[in-house]
Parts: sequence; structure tokens; C-alpha cells
Amino acid sequence: MPEAPLDELAAGLTSGEITTDASVLEKWRTDEARLTSDGRPLCAVHAESTADVVATMRWATRHCVPVVPRGAGTGLAGGALASRGSVVLALERMAAIRELSFDDQLAVVEPGVVTADLARAADERGLNYPVDPGSAARSTLGGNIATNAGGFRCFHYGVTRDQVLGLEVVLPDGRLVRTGHRTAKGVTGYDLTGLFVGSEGTLGVVTGAVLRLRHKERWPRATVAARFPTAVAAARVPLELARDGVRPSLLELVDEVTVRALRTWEQSSEPLVSEGALLLGQSEGEDAGRTADGMRRACERVGAEAVVVTQDPVETDHLLDIRRRALGAVEHEGRTMVEDFVVPRSRLGEMLLEIRRIADEHGILIATVAHAGDANLHPTLVFDPAEPEIPDRVWAAADDMFRTALRLGGTLTGEHGVGVLKKRWLGDELGESGMQVHHAVKKALDPLGIMNPGKIL
Ligand SMILES: Cc1cc2nc3c(=O)[nH]c(=O)nc-3n(C[C@H](O)[C@H](O)[C@H](O)COP(=O)(O)OP(=O)(O)OC[C@H]3O[C@@H](n4cnc5c(N)ncnc54)[C@H](O)[C@@H]3O)c2cc1C
Repeated sequence: MPEAPLDELAAGLTSGEITTDASVLEKWRTDEARLTSDGRPLCAVHAESTADVVATMRWATRHCVPVVPRGAGTGLAGGALASRGSVVLALERMAAIRELSFDDQLAVVEPGVVTADLARAADERGLNYPVDPGSAARSTLGGNIATNAGGFRCFHYGVTRDQVLGLEVVLPDGRLVRTGHRTAKGVTGYDLTGLFVGSEGTLGVVTGAVLRLRHKERWPRATVAARFPTAVAAARVPLELARDGVRPSLLELVDEVTVRALRTWEQSSEPLVSEGALLLGQSEGEDAGRTADGMRRACERVGAEAVVVTQDPVETDHLLDIRRRALGAVEHEGRTMVEDFVVPRSRLGEMLLEIRRIADEHGILIATVAHAGDANLHPTLVFDPAEPEIPDRVWAAADDMFRTALRLGGTLTGEHGVGVLKKRWLGDELGESGMQVHHAVKKALDPLGIMNPGKIL
């Protein structure tokens, strides 16, 4: 195939620019999944407007060149890996918050807005954007939409999909489509918004979004932190809370292997991370204090060894920070592969026991944190940096883990997406006709197969 003309691509851009700098392109062969693509991309387009994205996609269709949309590259499934000969469509410069409406409770944003920047801007206007992935200080809203990202408070507020009212998407052939609505309700036509959310850049490029905001709570949050002998013991708390009718807004679990890593690498003097496992709960609204009391009672009933309840914002930040720092501490132990799957709430304890079995049988250190309210587990598999990118025994342990999660009635990913990491198990969950429908949707929107090829399917 003749070399695609980059001068024609550059000439078509309104304000954006292209880069062919080898060191920059080399960086984009990877993301936080720490896998590396098969070769160097052709160039990167730094889009500054929807018109730049339209021009890029028209050019890519004309010359049949693969395009890989990229936000901040914090993805944990390898969705943003730029393959050999592709164009990286970098969206970080499209970072305007076009509208924030208190009365309509919404924001209109460009894809490159950093998640925490929207949360901050909303907060200043008395509003709340609740999706708070651990990467919020770096990840972009475009990336969050493309992966249907979750976070700590999704137990109460739902994931990104639950906040997206409408989208502006550039299709692979450069056509611009607007989906959804900016009203509180709306069911006109097929749910195209839902289709694009979580499609990991394989169906089109998100260039704008209308996001639902809530009015900010006026009452201080209450936070509960409890130490348990094991994560399995703590896993009973969500079930007890459901039975008691106690509804926290956050419920996070840090297992004993992760607590040990925090203690070892941070020399933390925090008594709650001295040993055992840690459960963090939070409640919001007028009843925050009463809900926290209900959480404390449930924790004590199932065997918590120590419980702290606070409404002090500084202490709250300190406690939630323990959970935020968990992955960093585990990364000191070696190279990591972070996993993400969900089991039914009633099987959380059983899955945690299975993870211990898998760690023993495959001889791998596995440290687990979980969004316990949703039974969304993130086991981190740790191995020697001197080993290959992902050694066979790590793949074998991951295989055992995903098959176990599916056997327990679970699903392969709760928030990180499929990317390249989980492709091999997709058919096990979707089945033959489910896979056929996925391929048919992909073909209908991307007949040339140029939109982030090799991801998901
Ligand atoms: C320390 C850490 C903590 C994390 N915690 C969480 C967590 O709590 N919850 C969670 O869900 N995730 C978490 N993640 C994973 C990651 O941050 C999310 O997947 C995030 O949504 C990725 O955003 P990004 O801007 O970095 O996207 P990228 O990594 O750049 O891209 C991710 C995918 O989205 C596609 N994409 C990006 N922008 C667009 C666009 N505008 N249009 C179409 N496709 C696009 C890419 O092609 C790729 O497939 C964490 C990651 C790290 C490193």
C-alpha cells in the first residue's frame, strides 16, 4: 500500500496539528495496562476541534488508515494502544466545559476535560459530578465515556453511562451524529448514546457530551472505616447492610495482601492498616450520621476488630486516601496486571476465597481491592519485572480467575473495558449469537474496520 499522504492530513486540519516525533509516538504504543503494541504509529493528530476530528476521519476513510482515539492513556485494558501504521487521535486539547447549568443540572463538555476538573467546576457551582475513578486527576471524560468508567461512588450514583444524557460522535467516515437529549427524560429512537458509551473507541470518536449533574448535598458526609481479620469476613457487610435497609454511597474493600503492601512500602502508622483487611464506607445526605451508625453496627456484628466513624473532612480524606494509594503500594512489589470483574453480591466472599486458591495454585502474589457495594473486584497480579511482558503463568491465573467469576454468575469487566486484555474471554461470556451481533454492529458503523481495530473484537 502506498504511504498515506500526511501533508494532505495536516492541510485538512482547522487548528490542530500533527506530530511524527518518534519519541512521542513510541510513548503511545502503550497505556497503563503496560502492554505494548505491534509497532510504531504513523503519526498523531492533536485535535483542537470537532472539525479536526471530522477531517481526520474523512482522510482515514479515504486512505483506509486505522485511527486510535486517545484521552489520557490511563486505561487498564490496553484500549488506547496505538498499533503499527495507525493514526493516534489525541483529544486532550479539546478540554472546554462549554456549559454548566444549575437549573437543568447538566454540563456540556469536550472529550479532553479531565474528570476531576469537571467535578471541581461543578462543585463551585453547587453541583455534583459523582463518577470518581481512582485516576480522576488524570483521566479524561472522553476516555471515561469510551470505557464506561466507574469509581468509588458508583455504588450509589451509577457508572458513567448513568450520567450521559447525550453525545456528539464523529463516525469512522467523518459523519457527525448527535445522540440522546438534554432533558431529564427522553426515549426517542434507539439508545445510541448507550451504544457508544463503553464502545472503547471502536465505533466512533466522542467529541462532545451532555452529562447529568446533581445538586450538591448540603450536609457533611459521614465515613466509616473498619478493620477485619480477613477480606472474606468483611465481604458479609454489604449483605448485612442490604438486610438492614442501610444504604451507604460508597463501600470499598482493601484485602489483607494490599494492607500488607501499604504497611511495608509506606511505613504507615495508621492503626487501621496494621494488619487484616480494611472496609471503608461513606454516607451522604440528611441521614448521613444515622446511615454511618447502621454501617458501624453491621461491621461490629460481623466481627470488625476496630471501627472509626468520622464527619471530619480532613480525617475522611485521610481514610479514603488509603484506598487511593493501594495500587501504588502494590506496584512496589513487582510488575502488575490489574484485573476487573464483577460477581453477584452474594458471591463476593466466595470469589475472594477463590482468589486465594488461585494465588496459591499458580504461585502468584495477588492483592485485591474491591468496590464492595457492587462486588466489583480488582485483583492485581504481581510478577517479576525481569519476566516477559505477561508471563504464561500470569495468563493462566487470569484465565482461572475469569472462568471462576463467570461460573459464579459474574461478568468479565465492571469498568475497565475489554481492550486487548480480555478479548480472549469475550466469547465465553457473550456466546456465539452475542458475538455475531457485536460484529454486525461494528460492521454497520465501521465497514472498513479502521476505528481502533483489534480492540474488544
Ligand atoms: C491509578 C488508576 C486508577 C484507576 N481507577 C479506575 C476506577 O476507579 N474506575 C475506572 O473505571 N477506571 C479506573 N482506571 C482506568 C482508567 O483511568 C479509565 O479506564 C479511564 O476511563 C480512561 O480514561 P483516559 O482518558 O485515560 O482514556 P484512554 O486510556 O486514553 O483511553 C481508554 C479507551 O477509550 C478510548 N477513547 C478515549 N477517548 C475517546 C474519545 N474521545 N472517543 C472515543 N474513544 C475514546 C480509547 O481508544 C481507549 O479504547 C484507573 C487507572 C489508573 C491508572
